[in-house]
Amino acid sequence: MTPDEVLDRLHELQSADLPTHGGRTLAYVYDSGIAEADEVGRRALELFASSNALDPTAFPSLLQMENDLVGFAGGLLDAPDGFAGSVTSGGTESILLAVQAARDSRPDVERPRMVLPSTAHAAFQKAAHYFRVEPVVVDVDPRTFRADPAAMAAAVDERTVLVVASAPSYAHGVVDPVTEVAAAAAAAGARCHVDACIGGWVLPYLQRSGAEVPAWTFAVDGVTSISVDLHKYAYTPKGVSLLLHRTAELRRPQFFACADWPGYTMLNSTTQSTKSGGPLAAAWAVVNAIGDDGYERLAGEVADGLRELVAGVAEQAHVAPVAVPDSTLLALAADDTCDVFTISDEMLSRGWFVQPQMAFRDLPPTLHLTLSAATAPLVPEFLVALEEAVTAAVEAGPVRVAPELAQAAASLDPATLDEAAFAGLLQLAGLAGDDGRLALPERLAPVNALLNLAPPALREALLVAVLDRLSRPTPQEPQGPTAQAPPAG
Ligand SMILES: *Cc1c(COP(=O)(O)O)cnc(C)c1O
Repeated sequence: MTPDEVLDRLHELQSADLPTHGGRTLAYVYDSGIAEADEVGRRALELFASSNALDPTAFPSLLQMENDLVGFAGGLLDAPDGFAGSVTSGGTESILLAVQAARDSRPDVERPRMVLPSTAHAAFQKAAHYFRVEPVVVDVDPRTFRADPAAMAAAVDERTVLVVASAPSYAHGVVDPVTEVAAAAAAAGARCHVDACIGGWVLPYLQRSGAEVPAWTFAVDGVTSISVDLHKYAYTPKGVSLLLHRTAELRRPQFFACADWPGYTMLNSTTQSTKSGGPLAAAWAVVNAIGDDGYERLAGEVADGLRELVAGVAEQAHVAPVAVPDSTLLALAADDTCDVFTISDEMLSRGWFVQPQMAFRDLPPTLHLTLSAATAPLVPEFLVALEEAVTAAVEAGPVRVAPELAQAAASLDPATLDEAAFAGLLQLAGLAGDDGRLALPERLAPVNALLNLAPPALREALLVAVLDRLSRPTPQEPQGPTAQAPPAG
């Protein structure tokens, strides 16, 4: 392909994706609405795409940019003198490293545990799985959706190496009572991680403009580490998060060195070894282009948009927020005349992406809305679309899952299911095409409603089976003898 053909093809492929800009995608992407900041970010990404943060002495520019960003974040998060931090590839990596460092700081604990509120991000479960730290999940208060500090304190024991709080939780947008949770951790000599992946770059600015937010930063005694994603509310290109520790000593177990082979001594601060300088440089560029004042203005715009959204939703029938939001996220639940999965489909057909969240323990299924600065001016349009979508969902009525499917979903044990049984289930769920290959339907509500009935382990197993079938190599054209012939001359 010529370079023009390559680019044409890339644009064609991208046309099937959700839009990353424009403010109508209310999950996955974050749009500042500032075209110059996006442009400078892309330029930086390009400039440093091939630079390698594997060795900071070979690429001192990257070390400088990392230290600059960590320094800036320390100011936002009330970090004390002597704090330290690292740039990672995303929130999940920041969380993985916080858990790994907590585990490895306690070699005396044979079977380490961490205490999580039930709303903690799934990345902690992933860390539990990767690092064999047992998760002890404590239900949040069902009325406020916030962590229950007394129940968490009761769950902490001598094997606990980490206690977690969110600021705010992804699913419901509320800040946990960090002061009490961190105190319980400190009393047991455990670390306390505050997951501010989504809120860490926006809450400080909201607080600066007078918003009342319960304390959650390093200003709280006992908080030992905080994660904050730059690729969320710092509006940078994807692939950048920060993990800050209260002291450099607390960070030490996160580092990995290996001189035990004949090549270079491998010395890594994070999971990756060869690490592109592109996302880091892009983040440095965008943070400096938007700047402190810019972020304060953007946070104010989002907060105004959220207030308008909450007020508008209050006037609508059949949907309501599950909790008063502390930040810039909103979770909406539906009454029993309709379901959130159909509303989500109806919104998508009107050009808006809102993310369905399944029922979990006592918590209802909801629609997750992350507001970007670019969404704020569109809130009146969003409210019109939402009203139409809810009306259509009420007309259609809640999705009815066929009783035999509901029965199967509730009773199957994923541990004992073989491939053939999965194939049968995918067929029943309407996910199998005629040729046995996977076919995603246009409307996802029936599938989501079914998944919503399935216990988490079955939901996981089904979706893994879906992903497995989706990610298979593209069939190649048979290569003729000319294609294989070496170039003449
Ligand atoms: C997004 C998010 C994460 C995970 O971050 P990724 O960048 O998707 O890996 C963790 N915690 C919270 C609260 C988040 O919002």
